[in-house]
Amino acid sequence: MIEVTLLGTGSPIPDPHRAGPSTLVRAGGQIFLVDCGRGVLQRLAAAGSGANQVSALLLTHLHSDHIADLGDVIITRWVSTFDPDAAPLQIIGPPGTAEVVDATLRAFGHDIGYRVAHHADLTDPPRVEVHEYTDGPVWDRGDVRIRVAPTDHRPVTPSIAFRIEHGGASVALAGDTVPCPSLDALAAGAGALVHTVIRKDLIEQLAQQRIRDICDYHSSVQEAAATASRAGVGILILTHYVPAIAPGTQDEWRALAASVFDRQIELGDDLHRVQVHPGVCSRARP
Ligand SMILES: [Zn+2]
Ligand SMILES: [Zn+2]
Repeated sequence: MIEVTLLGTGSPIPDPHRAGPSTLVRAGGQIFLVDCGRGVLQRLAAAGSGANQVSALLLTHLHSDHIADLGDVIITRWVSTFDPDAAPLQIIGPPGTAEVVDATLRAFGHDIGYRVAHHADLTDPPRVEVHEYTDGPVWDRGDVRIRVAPTDHRPVTPSIAFRIEHGGASVALAGDTVPCPSLDALAAGAGALVHTVIRKDLIEQLAQQRIRDICDYHSSVQEAAATASRAGVGILILTHYVPAIAPGTQDEWRALAASVFDRQIELGDDLHRVQVHPGVCSRARP
């Protein structure tokens, strides 16, 4: 079984009730964070875990809303890991990730220096290993396998999606993307597809051109549902709602997806949790 928890379902616009985009995947005793938007570690704590338990951080692309709390993940993991032989944090992302991680470590250079000077048992800066990929297998440990494929979020390039497999269960996770054949292929036959969505019908009515611009490089609810349908997945899990789902309109969003995808559809608030079983798919009990 693979368990998916939507840690943050928000967008780049700060929202009092939704953290920035991030999804927690638990599989075979391993813990994966997919993207690390604003507030990720608060939500991870609410989900019963912490930065020092993360097996790998998977980044779909380098837009600020998806990496806003990268520094918090790296530094908090470092200061809350007490085993001197603990494995370095694994970070898997598209090309450019290593540059972003290096710059983040430099940005926190003063903090790292203070802590090394103050604590006798902290002698080294945070241990991080970065792996950059656009396609193919990226992880094979303890019965969990992960592979990636390119997505289409141009001009944000490259951007990638992940497919996590464990014990016959599988979950594909797309970041921001328009529909594309490489995502269809990656998600084909998966137990679940986690997909970011925007309501183009609402965004297109807004006055600011800069906001309307976002329609051309994201999937609408219907487009994400069509991807899920072509890929034949068991469950479509929607997240990163733009605009935020207004109170009382969740059924409207669900109906838009259901007009294109006739299987299980999941959406909701931060910490919404879905279990993905091999073959059979059922929602986790709260
Ligand atoms: Zn993006
Ligand atoms: Zn985004």
